[in-house]
Amino acid sequence: MLSYRHAFHAGNFADVLKHLILIRILEYLKKKDKPFCCVDTHAGPGAYALDSDYALKNREFDNGIGTLWQRHDLPDGVAAYVELIRQFNGQEPLRRYPGSPLIAQQLLRDADRLFLYELHSTEIALLTEAVNRDRRIKVFHDDGLKSAIGLLPPAERRGLVLIDPSYEMKSNYQEVVDTLVKMHKRFATGIFALWYPVVERRRNDALEQALQNSGIKNIQLFELGIQADTSEHGMTASGMIVINPPWTLKPDMERVLPWLADVLGESGAGFFRTRELAGE
Ligand code: SAM
Repeated sequence: MLSYRHAFHAGNFADVLKHLILIRILEYLKKKDKPFCCVDTHAGPGAYALDSDYALKNREFDNGIGTLWQRHDLPDGVAAYVELIRQFNGQEPLRRYPGSPLIAQQLLRDADRLFLYELHSTEIALLTEAVNRDRRIKVFHDDGLKSAIGLLPPAERRGLVLIDPSYEMKSNYQEVVDTLVKMHKRFATGIFALWYPVVERRRNDALEQALQNSGIKNIQLFELGIQADTSEHGMTASGMIVINPPWTLKPDMERVLPWLADVLGESGAGFFRTRELAGE
């Protein structure tokens, strides 16, 4: 049974990195006139109220969008992300936070398409309402890891697959690799972005090793940590593993990550990591 609700975590430091990279990839795809397709295998409810009981329980957004919202020295890539969140709030004070579906929706052009998968019965209802009958968007109450494979390759032959599981079950770490291998076989030129948390570092080492062993080429990792690794419970860092990243992504992230680690790191313990898991 699924019990995870992303509303507890919306806008935290992990969402900052995830959504910033999502925006950079979609902006890159928009540089060409040709339409693209975006697939979000774990869409969530679409948007979050930061004044809800969920978000206020641990106020995770404070050390995420809440901190960036108040800064006047944002580097370029971060400024574009914060500006999108400001537009989502109608240039009013920070009250709402868009999930990946509404971020992508905000960036779609007329001919671009977005496919959203969500399994949780409450979240799927919220998601369907949030995207509000947009003809460019299809919502599926289905397993994104299994069913989205069949969508590939998309007719556009260019696009992004975002895989953002909650890792509630340890088996998720292996499932995402198996899915990526299947998806990549069908759509080898596509961009794939996999989010991961750092809770137990050995699981991340195994994930990175499995991707290196997969035979998939051109894989880059970007990680942001707010505390050193620990054996205690809880997420101390998170990252995105990107297959076929836009060539601009690595230089962009190398400029932005040191700043984010400094600003969001707790008691000076912030860090970042970039790593090429497989060359071109
Ligand atoms: N991508 C969202 C965002 O950025 O706002 C957050 C997604 S949240 C981390 C993960 C979501 O995946 C949860 O809403 C959960 O119900 C859903 N989920 C879990 N397993 C799934 C699966 N196999 N297929 C589709 N959705 C799934």
